[in-house]
Formats: sequence, C-alpha cells, structure tokens
Amino acid sequence: IITTMKSVKLDEHQFQEYLSAEVIADKVAVLGAKINNDYTSNDPPIVIALLNGAFIFAADLCRQFDFECQLQLLRVSSYKGMESTGKVKIDHDAEPDMNNRHVIIVEDIVDTGNTLAAYLPTLKAKGAKSVKVCTLLLKPEAVQHDLELEYVGFEIPNKFVIGYGLDYNGRGRNLGAIYSIVANK
Ligand code: 5GP
Repeated sequence: IITTMKSVKLDEHQFQEYLSAEVIADKVAVLGAKINNDYTSNDPPIVIALLNGAFIFAADLCRQFDFECQLQLLRVSSYKGMESTGKVKIDHDAEPDMNNRHVIIVEDIVDTGNTLAAYLPTLKAKGAKSVKVCTLLLKPEAVQHDLELEYVGFEIPNKFVIGYGLDYNGRGRNLGAIYSIVANK
C-alpha cells in the first residue's frame, strides 16, 4: 500500500479517499485546541485511547496538548470484518488509576456506539472527576445509544472506512488518509 493513493483495493473491496491527511491534521489541531482550552496543567486529564483503531489518532492528538497528560492505551474489541459483533471485550487490568482525575476517552470512530455504551458505565465506579469522549469520526445514522460525545471530529455517512488507524481485517491502518468503501465487487 502506498499511503498517498487516492483509491485502494483490499480483497474485492474498493475504497476511495474520503478525508485527506491534510484535512485530518487540521481537524486534529482544532480538537487539540478545544481540549487545551478545557483543561489545565494543574489538573490534567488521563487520556485513555481505545485500541486498536485509535492508536494513530491518539498519537497525533496528544502531541497537540499543552499540558502534561498520562496516555494509556486500552484494548477493546468488538469488530470482525465489517460488522460489529455487538460483544465488547475490555482489558480492565490495563486501566490506570482514575480516582479523582479527569478522564478523556479517545475513540477512532463511534459506529453503533456499543463499545462506549459498554465501557463508559464501568468508569462510574472508578472515581473519575469527569469523563469526556473525543472521537475522530461519528456515524450518526448508525448510533444505537444515547451517548454524550464532547469532542467529535467528523460526522460521516454510514459506510465502512479504513485508514489512519482503522483497518479492514487488520489491513489499511497505515494509510495516511481515511478511505470510504465504494463497491463490494
Ligand atoms: P461501535 O462499538 O461504536 O459500533 O464501534 C466501535 C469500533 O468499531 C471502532 O472503534 C472501530 O474499531 C470499529 N469500527 C466501527 N466502524 C468502523 C468502520 O467504518 N471501519 C473500521 N475499520 N472500523 C470500524
């Protein structure tokens, strides 16, 4: 894969560039500025990025912050192929101590919302002062839960996307842009 291609084919699936690397970088800067505005160095948030998909977004986002933060990568999984399984696995052992801390959950994409709907309620017992969500992408037509999403990069149509951390069966994560599926054959 060449990371600057306008279209990509994985198996029989054709994907076309939807959000360029430049457009993504601009949005990450806007989100970072908003977050900088909302937190201070005296009381910085713990940032929990949900793996695997959010690793690239989290890496770019946290380097916008003008406060010192703790970044924790947390494995959650719900997808196989192109459909959400509805079952969410969370590696609670890897969670940092959130007692009396502000927390930001970083997601690559909110699709059905199953992941956050399963994960966010578990944070109530951890003593966090506040919990906010920052997601790069949101599919408003797909969401099945009433979720409060403080920071949203792009609202996108209900189509499968890859790139910038997002995969198709493990492939395509290293694409610099985000690509949307255009055909199944
Ligand atoms: P949700 O639980 O909101 O349905 O989905 C959350 C996770 O599913 C995301 O973090 C992401 O890993 C995966 N996902 C949802 N939609 C897409 C998509 O269009 N493309 C890819 N590659 N993954 C997706």
